[in-house]
Amino acid sequence: MNDIRGDKLYVALTFDIDGETLWTSRDKINRIGPVLLSQGYYGPETGVPRILKLLKAHNLPATFFITGYAADTYPDICKTIVDAGHEIGHHNYAHEWPPRTAPAEERAAFEKGLDSLTRLTGKQPEGYRAPGWEFSDITFDLLKEFGMAYSSNMMDDEFAYQHTEGGQPTGIWELPCSWILDDAAFFMYGLTYGPPQYPTGPVLDLWNSEFDGMYAEGDGRVYVLTMHPQFIGRSSRIAMLNEFITRIKDKPGVVFTGCGDYVRKLRQADSPRRRDYDRRKKPV
Ligand SMILES: [Zn+2]
Repeated sequence: MNDIRGDKLYVALTFDIDGETLWTSRDKINRIGPVLLSQGYYGPETGVPRILKLLKAHNLPATFFITGYAADTYPDICKTIVDAGHEIGHHNYAHEWPPRTAPAEERAAFEKGLDSLTRLTGKQPEGYRAPGWEFSDITFDLLKEFGMAYSSNMMDDEFAYQHTEGGQPTGIWELPCSWILDDAAFFMYGLTYGPPQYPTGPVLDLWNSEFDGMYAEGDGRVYVLTMHPQFIGRSSRIAMLNEFITRIKDKPGVVFTGCGDYVRKLRQADSPRRRDYDRRKKPV
């Protein structure tokens, strides 16, 4: 358990706005495919308004991890997210995947993305989600250097925890994710990418049953749902998300939270859960 007593399960709705950089960061050749790239435009332009409408209808907070590129390319749409009171998190500049990026280039992308998002909101984002959910050898050092409060990337826990190094607290908290709670694992598709597209029913079943299991064990676990406007933003999937939210939102002890707010709560409670970052480096 962590040290936030009295609440059974925290739910963090998170949305990663990659736009077309989801595709170009996979393979630079995708830059020449206007149809493939147009899937990226769909996310901010069509998906985001539907998501904001849904969140408003339920009066729920969310965290949007945005690439600097998306902030610069879709400023008016991103501003509507800020104006609706949602948290903005960092997602690199052009969705550079840390393990595939040279250290100098990764640092530049991290800084450039941070600058774009700071211009968007007037303050530096507190949290970082790595594109592709993976770190390079320098990613964690960048989080420390730039004073990030939290990461939402690791898959080793159902509780949030503080990263330590050599047993010493780093001040950086982790809100763990999972592929089972990610829409891209079921809905992402391009001719040469992704699994077959799942119908909404089985995905809703999966998210519901995972929720039920975590809710039963409770103890202040955090259910981090990761979604992408270009996938979840289709009307059928927004209906699925609405069904999911409607089913869980009034259950006793369920607290919807922005990631940054949750981390502040953990810090105030001096939550003792910790994991050492060093153990993740190069096991053999
Ligand atoms: Zn992404």
